[in-house]
Amino acid sequence: MRFENKVVLVTGSSRGIGRATALAFAQEGAHVTINYEKNRADAEDTVAEIRKIGRDAIAIQADVAIEDDVKRMLQEAVAHFGGIDVLVNNAGIVFDVPILEKTVEQWQRTLAVNLIGTFLCIKETVPYLTERSGSSIVTISSNNGIDTGSPESADYDASKAGIISLTKNFAQALAPKIRVNSVAPGWIDTDMNKDLPVEFVESETQKTALKRWAKPEEIAKAALFLCSDDASFITGSILVADGGYR
Ligand code: NAP
Repeated sequence: MRFENKVVLVTGSSRGIGRATALAFAQEGAHVTINYEKNRADAEDTVAEIRKIGRDAIAIQADVAIEDDVKRMLQEAVAHFGGIDVLVNNAGIVFDVPILEKTVEQWQRTLAVNLIGTFLCIKETVPYLTERSGSSIVTISSNNGIDTGSPESADYDASKAGIISLTKNFAQALAPKIRVNSVAPGWIDTDMNKDLPVEFVESETQKTALKRWAKPEEIAKAALFLCSDDASFITGSILVADGGYR
């Protein structure tokens, strides 16, 4: 058990990669705060799955783009668990729209949730993390934030490039006590991609060396590695998990 009795907060963990990550931490002995924005039923379902494993979990509604929500989420989580050891910044959104049709509102919401939300969650969690030893933060960026984005997700790609920059800056600012790293996934089979055209999915699969999309659990494993003692000399790193996408 790599996270026996550790306390973990995973943002956006009602579904997809966040849910898989929360369950993976619980399987390794952790107690987990499940954060969601809208889907209370899915969040409660994730909580029930974790309790079945024999670990504690609570669901907290909070929009990570809203500062007061983030502060309340941290207060409620720490009031319940008595502290926090690991933060995974996973909550994210995308609007797949041709670049010339993108609205200012779509840009602002994407940057607010993905990039500023990550900043807010780290900022509000740090005071609690510094009270414990072996604390760690992981962000979920994307290979779109490195060099493989597309015009339909220009705002999303910019937010993910920003998360990579933020990760490196926080790694410097929070060393040596807290390690900060990022997982940069490629295509993952989640709700985020469920409405993409079949032909597009096929062509993106062909661009992926492993000729398939990942399961959310495969990204969860990368996040757990970066938070574990196995990654004790790793900070400010971006772990690309994209199946060899080109
Ligand atoms: P998903 O299936 O669409 O799930 C998104 C999760 O984020 C849900 O739990 C959702 O909560 C939550 N969320 C959305 N907006 C929120 C907000 N403002 N405040 C709090 N929670 C919010 O997404 P996913 O595919 O698992 O993606 C998870 C992360 O991985 C994202 O950062 C995404 O950009 C990144 N990523 C995904 C892929 C991919 O191919 N799927 C690739 C690279 C990176 P509700 O259930 O309440 O809506």
